[in-house]
Amino acid sequence: MPKPQPGCDDAGVTVPTPPAALADGSALDLAAALKSRFGFSTFRPGQEAVVRDALAGRDLLAIMPTGGGKSLCFQLPAVLQPGITLVISPLIALMQDQVRLLQDNGIAATYINSSLEPSEVSARLRGAAKGEYKLLYLAPERLLQPNFFDGVLNRLVEGRGVNAFVVDEAHCVSEWGHDFRPEYRQLAALRRRHANIPLFAFTATATPRVREDIVNQLALHEPAVHVASFNRPNLYYGVRPKNKKTYDELLARAREDESGIVYCLSRKRVDELALQLQSDGIAAVPYHAGLDAEQRRSNQEAFIRDDARVVVATIAFGMGINKPDVRWVVHYDLPRTLESYYQESGRAGRDGDPAECILYFSAADIRTAEFLIQQKVDPDTGAPLEDEQRLARQQLRQVLNYAESTECRRGIQLRYFGEVLTGSCGNCDNCRNPRQLHDRTIEAQQFLSCIARLAQRRERYGGAYLIDILRGSQAQRLIDNGHAQLSVYGIGKQHGVELWRSVVRALLHQGLVQETQDGYPVLSLNALSWEVLRGERKVHIAEAPPSSRRKSEAAGAAEDLHVADQPLFDRLRALRKQVADRSGVPPYVIFHDATLREMVRRAPANLEEFATIPGVGQAKLARYGQMFTDEIRAAYSKV
Ligand code: ADP
Ligand code: ZN
Repeated sequence: MPKPQPGCDDAGVTVPTPPAALADGSALDLAAALKSRFGFSTFRPGQEAVVRDALAGRDLLAIMPTGGGKSLCFQLPAVLQPGITLVISPLIALMQDQVRLLQDNGIAATYINSSLEPSEVSARLRGAAKGEYKLLYLAPERLLQPNFFDGVLNRLVEGRGVNAFVVDEAHCVSEWGHDFRPEYRQLAALRRRHANIPLFAFTATATPRVREDIVNQLALHEPAVHVASFNRPNLYYGVRPKNKKTYDELLARAREDESGIVYCLSRKRVDELALQLQSDGIAAVPYHAGLDAEQRRSNQEAFIRDDARVVVATIAFGMGINKPDVRWVVHYDLPRTLESYYQESGRAGRDGDPAECILYFSAADIRTAEFLIQQKVDPDTGAPLEDEQRLARQQLRQVLNYAESTECRRGIQLRYFGEVLTGSCGNCDNCRNPRQLHDRTIEAQQFLSCIARLAQRRERYGGAYLIDILRGSQAQRLIDNGHAQLSVYGIGKQHGVELWRSVVRALLHQGLVQETQDGYPVLSLNALSWEVLRGERKVHIAEAPPSSRRKSEAAGAAEDLHVADQPLFDRLRALRKQVADRSGVPPYVIFHDATLREMVRRAPANLEEFATIPGVGQAKLARYGQMFTDEIRAAYSKV
């Protein structure tokens, strides 16, 4: 059996390797290892169970939300076991980020990818063969290259040993996921070739179809399946009306000097909004697929290093961004699906500190979304792609349901992933300020009887046309159809189109009317509609939420620093930025905000006290303890 290698890295910090793990990890004090190697005082929910299964050498599939702390689940076992762990990761940026974080914790890790000179790749592979690394990151393409798969890999296995294969972002294996990578499919070859080396798959994708696909496509052998809750209590969810004040709200948020992401639907909108924020003095950068690769890279880097506070982006921005201290995510336009909303907004608050996710929404967005859906046509024939359109409409409806609901937002999202949240969450707009409900039973009855009248004539129409009838429109088509003679014609004149639209949407959401696709969406009555018509059921609709936004809605849950402590916090933050820039890493690699806050609170006077701060492990203590305690002392000696 090969000997475990002491962890070491370029900076020369060497951390003693703890005693080799027992096969099941039980005799190991995992909590102590977590603190000394990573500086964390406790496991996040679900982490420990995954770590134990990993140490036991089982195949496993772990599904955890973004920010759940997936990487630790394979990194801790990797440092506790002899041999090397191979981590298959789809993106260069992800590999580099994780390797930087590991190295800063004094854990020997490296990556190989196409950004490196061949001689550098060879050097790292030689190092791996000599047992110099605990973790090696690489892309699936590299792993599957014959000279790697049939050569290097076999030598590693037969030499000092490979203790596990990790497939990160494992949803890439599935066509049902959003980042399908065909080469992920071939990873099943690992299972066949090295049947006795455990394979761990990790993803944040929650849908059951993707989960099944991962197990099958990677040929996992009786995997332990861990599904963590997708509830992220530190995220505040809110929906706000999109109107003339929206930009000012956004600007106010951006001025708070915290990292945030604004998602927009189009590249043009991204460019405009980034420019507008810049001209208002915000360090904002755009990000979309229309920018050249170099520009994208440097904008992303500026954001990660806190040189730019705000990134305005299309959905092209996302995977590969591990920045843990994004404090807010704003959707300036409607997301395409509830799942994508969950994933995009979920880029906030990975560090577990309070963060805010706001969706701006107006009726005009619905029209844009519908228009885009109608554009889904066969490029050759121009015929509508009906299946795709139907699916997109269903997804749009789920998003609208979320946006217009008066229910707990978290409850809706979790239900979408098959989880049940009991009670109200207390950290969304609807739970904090329940909205007033209006009795719109009469309007609902008017609308439904319009459908009933037309049904008697064996006719079915969509919502917009029915509203025209109720409002007594003079449109020629309507007159030609003879609908001006209906008894319901014009009975809803006193209300504007917007109100009628919200009635229709509410009826749909509450299941009080049926929508069917007859080439285009048409409405028909169901059993519940008749209950409304017979007066057996009331219809309540929420009024629009108040449009003034309170400052930092998420702040309620924050363990904010006392105002008097802010100067020291700013000082430590500046020191962190200096140190980070000097070593060419993002500030969060050095310390998280929460760790800085704890330093401010406890004001550690010596290294011993410094070592007890959450976020400080042995390597960080050795590397930064002195300069940070010096800075704290200097700050105190001034007052
Ligand atoms: P994921 O890949 O699941 O989105 P990461 O592995 O990037 O999550 O972890 C998210 C953040 O949580 C990281 O900044 C990481 O340092 C932090 N983290 C992970 N585990 C713990 C823990 N047990 N205690 C405190 N912070 C943790
Ligand atoms: Zn709630």
